[in-house]
Amino acid sequence: MAHKIKISFILANLLHVFIIYVVGVVLIQAVKNTIEWQVEKAWGNSSVLWSDIWQSVIDFFGGNQFMLFAAGTYGFTALVFWSYNSIYLFMDMTERPKFLRKYKIQEGKNSPLTFDQLKKLLSVILSSQPHAMAVTIAFFPLQQLRGVPYNVEELPSVPQLALDITLTALLQGGMFYYTHRLLHHPYFYKRYHKVHHEWTAPVSLTAVYAHPFESVISNYIPLVLASVIIGCHLVSTWLWLVVAVIQTANDHSGYHFPFVLSAEFHDYHHLKFNQCYGVFGILDHIHGTDLQFQEAVQSTRHRVFYSATPISKTIPDRMNRSRASKKD
Ligand SMILES: [Zn+2]
Ligand SMILES: [Zn+2]
Repeated sequence: MAHKIKISFILANLLHVFIIYVVGVVLIQAVKNTIEWQVEKAWGNSSVLWSDIWQSVIDFFGGNQFMLFAAGTYGFTALVFWSYNSIYLFMDMTERPKFLRKYKIQEGKNSPLTFDQLKKLLSVILSSQPHAMAVTIAFFPLQQLRGVPYNVEELPSVPQLALDITLTALLQGGMFYYTHRLLHHPYFYKRYHKVHHEWTAPVSLTAVYAHPFESVISNYIPLVLASVIIGCHLVSTWLWLVVAVIQTANDHSGYHFPFVLSAEFHDYHHLKFNQCYGVFGILDHIHGTDLQFQEAVQSTRHRVFYSATPISKTIPDRMNRSRASKKD
């Protein structure tokens, strides 16, 4: 009798396990299928949307490759640059919205930005635009030679796009670091790079406030050359240029906002001249060109923070001083 009960008990348990297993498998499969279907639906729709947008861009230039690669790239970058920087320009000139003022890195410097300063900025920036156009045009034969894809049929997938932009950013970061170091050689500094360093407390437009020689060798050429070497589709190059424009404007903005990548590193370069030459800080670390920065309060603040309190208040100057004196 006891034996029979034991068997029925085991069978009942096995049945329970089986039911739980079947229900579990069905549920997991259902959730998996739903997610896959949603992703496929979203990506399928958006890929059609992106194809349509890109086709209309190609059509806008009448299918003319030169116009698309040269005029298109220059015009698109200029549009992104002026649209994005106009937000910072408004903030710097009007000192509004007031609640964002507290996120200034060098408090009170170039604040508010005057019309005279704006005129000076525009005259230098506009004077290097013919050089920017010339570089974009000069790259066209190289892009043809490299067989840079631009067709709708060859549009990159999202992972490919992410890989293209990451590799291009790393390569451009390297080119920028070494050309920037070269510009700090006394021969080049006094002739060219001194212009960019007129701003010890930068504002976003100073990202391209430079002598045309510097703009060409350190900004324009690395930007396009890196994407050509990586072999990016033209769409990847355009999106990379959006990333680069936003990143360099933020780096020069003079603000350190919550949830946004820190601008402390390049701001420190403008403040001290001989520190923090690169974009990511990796090469500065390797070459020891960030040693003074590592000891400074700005280095402690150089991170993304997630509170409404400015990081300059969370990590005030005196805290760093007391930390430094403890080290001594
Ligand atoms: Zn700069
Ligand atoms: Zn410099």
